[in-house]
Amino acid sequence: MRPDPLNPDNAGLAGSANDSLQPYWMPFTANRLFKSKPRMFVAAEGMHYVTDDGRRILDAMAGLWCVNAGHNPPRIVRAIQEQAARLDFVSSFQMGHPLAFQLAERIAELAPAGLDRVFFTNSGSEAVDTALKIARAYHKVRGDANRIKLIGRAKAYHGMGFGGLSVAGIPRHRRDFGPLLGDVDHLPHTHDLTHNAFSRGQPAWGAHLADELEAIVQIHDASTIAAVIVEPVTGSGGVLPPPVGYLERLRELCTRYGILLIFDEVISGFGRLGAPFGSTALGVTPDLITCAKGMTNGAVPMGGVIASSAVYDAFMAAPEAAVELMHGYTYSGHPLACAAGLAAIDTYEQEGLFARGPQISATWEAAVHQLKGAPHVRDIRNIGVLAAIELTPREGAPGARAAEAVEHCFAAGVLVRVAGDNLVLSPPLTISPDQMTQVVETIDAALRTVA
Ligand code: PMP
Repeated sequence: MRPDPLNPDNAGLAGSANDSLQPYWMPFTANRLFKSKPRMFVAAEGMHYVTDDGRRILDAMAGLWCVNAGHNPPRIVRAIQEQAARLDFVSSFQMGHPLAFQLAERIAELAPAGLDRVFFTNSGSEAVDTALKIARAYHKVRGDANRIKLIGRAKAYHGMGFGGLSVAGIPRHRRDFGPLLGDVDHLPHTHDLTHNAFSRGQPAWGAHLADELEAIVQIHDASTIAAVIVEPVTGSGGVLPPPVGYLERLRELCTRYGILLIFDEVISGFGRLGAPFGSTALGVTPDLITCAKGMTNGAVPMGGVIASSAVYDAFMAAPEAAVELMHGYTYSGHPLACAAGLAAIDTYEQEGLFARGPQISATWEAAVHQLKGAPHVRDIRNIGVLAAIELTPREGAPGARAAEAVEHCFAAGVLVRVAGDNLVLSPPLTISPDQMTQVVETIDAALRTVA
């Protein structure tokens, strides 16, 4: 009998007999550890996952910052099923299908004013690489081909393509992959426990850190810089809300020096900060937005770049029959992803989830800050429906205590994510006050258990 990982009676999981698990090389996973002690999810609904041993797990991470409306909303399920039966695939290269145009129009309506051209990708990583390529090509098409430098930020996560990795700033992610893109520089991060510990929402201190862009401009000369890319709220680097005035300052400097400003909204897009996009919630408009995750409520892989019409129009000055941007992916604007995207936006709008952030963020903030004073907690940060509980690391073992706490939470039925020394929370926007309490009490108990 062939082992079946979903059947506990015949899972082939015991000891070295778990051969059925070996072919799958899992991403961002300690493969050997996982395969010696696998953790399988077999179903999900609303706020919960179901494991293969029948446990219900409260999902305090919205999967991976993406299931903003909760799991398996019927409208999205139906849309994907119907689309799969109607039109499975059509290339987007010189061909169209109506849903791609409809989705672009809906996204343009939701995006900040002036950002109304949408390029589809299949992931956040592809969206970031696409945005970086658009930025360079934009300057070139305008006769400014010297502008090639890309400025990222320390602690940033921009996906795993070579472009995104090059502008990102989590050292462990960059270490093993040889030379990354040249012509890249980094702004400092805004993490600061001296001034900003236990701040609520945007911290008051740190707007001046954006002025480092001025220093970078002095070193490289503005005429060599194509774009600055930042997550409006640093996500995987530990949920760092931008200091009050920081993004405004970056915007001002980019405008002054002719540099494109890219906001990576893969996490902050589609309702996470209490508006369709974080740019709107935070009141600063970039030239390009990258998005993914909540775009389809996580149901079908999809990402995108939303560009200002000024950027788009620069490309449209080329001769009419020309391909204006020599870039794209086989699955750009995939019919199933577009169907899921349209249904996700319908779901967010009809269930009032874009407005839900402002309704629940005060309750959320109060809930997570109850953990102040729990063992090992040295900072708590929150914004929208995001939070991080930062722990004091164990000597010589960064991240180990947080990883252990996350294991305790899982054993107690709550899915929390670890990011360095942080416990990271990003639940579906449908989370109830009782479920917030459950998350906080579970973390509190876990922190009392870890050494
Ligand atoms: N940018 C940001 C800000 C992200 O958080 C992520 C994913 N966590 C990405 C890009 C990459 O997205 P993907 O994993 O879909 O490629």
